[in-house]
Amino acid sequence: MRVIVAGGAGFLGSHLCDALAIRGDEVVILDNLSSGSQNNIQHLIDAGHTFIECDVSREVPVSGAIGGVFNLASPASPPHYLRHPLETLAVGSEGTRRLLEVAHANSARFLQASTSEVYGDPLVHPQPESYWGNVNPVGPRSVYDEAKRFGETLVTAYRTSKRTNTTIARIFNTYGPRLDPGDGRVVSNFMYQALTGADLTIYGDGMQTRSLIYVADEVRGLLKLFDSDYPGPVNLGGQIEQTVLEIAETIVRVTNSSSRVVFKPLPTDDPSRRRPDITLAREILHWEPTTPLEVGLSALRDDYLARHITKVAE
Ligand code: UDP
Repeated sequence: MRVIVAGGAGFLGSHLCDALAIRGDEVVILDNLSSGSQNNIQHLIDAGHTFIECDVSREVPVSGAIGGVFNLASPASPPHYLRHPLETLAVGSEGTRRLLEVAHANSARFLQASTSEVYGDPLVHPQPESYWGNVNPVGPRSVYDEAKRFGETLVTAYRTSKRTNTTIARIFNTYGPRLDPGDGRVVSNFMYQALTGADLTIYGDGMQTRSLIYVADEVRGLLKLFDSDYPGPVNLGGQIEQTVLEIAETIVRVTNSSSRVVFKPLPTDDPSRRRPDITLAREILHWEPTTPLEVGLSALRDDYLARHITKVAE
């Protein structure tokens, strides 16, 4: 099958492209390289897959038949989307609409990469898909949260009004090799800091929680959802809920680091806890994450060591 992966040069997107290529699909990668990198996909380009550098909120320059569209195009780490608020809104709205049009014209299945951020700072815990969320529409994070919420609405409207074959995945904090060390996310920051002997920067008191998922588990879930005919949304996230402090301790352990922790101010509207209810994914997709945290973090450590990452994160 010939499939489009928008945002395919990013961290998660490039792993998804790898999995599609391995199963024999022909991948057309669209990315404006604002947070992704051609290094993540050069091996796929060399193997004959297509890369088109473009901004899907302005154009989707793809011709020929398409069998599937994965929409992962968006800045995804808080520092990135906070630096690009208008672009984040544009790609979540106009970018999603343009890609939906391509899927519709080709009668192709469309998978929307949504996010746990649609739940905002959740008042229900763990979060089932039926929970509507608690998002501040005028807070700094809202450019990402509301763009993704609007994206879900747009996808649903195409499905109901035009019968486009769509589905929605709600992706939770994903980590693994190729995470950009300057990305600003918790795992990449801590890994970078631990390996370089810098202090691990805990925002707030470190008691906020996240449920990390290894990238290979996430990609396996995305493909199962794409291959199903389920409309979603479906939560695809990890089940081991940890405080940020515990994440720091685990990373210090797997890197055998002498780094210490320092406390920094908590960003505005930082969600206090997060863990997906994955009952639906278990029942419908027969999917659940299997990679233990220490195994996944060791893979990321080895990736950073192999890439000779030595500079301290800003
Ligand atoms: N965080 C932290 N130190 C860092 C980066 C992040 O304590 O150097 C915290 C952040 O405040 C949040 C959690 O780790 O509570 C996860 O942050 P991340 O940016 O990875 O993703 P989020 O889930 O907030 O989108």
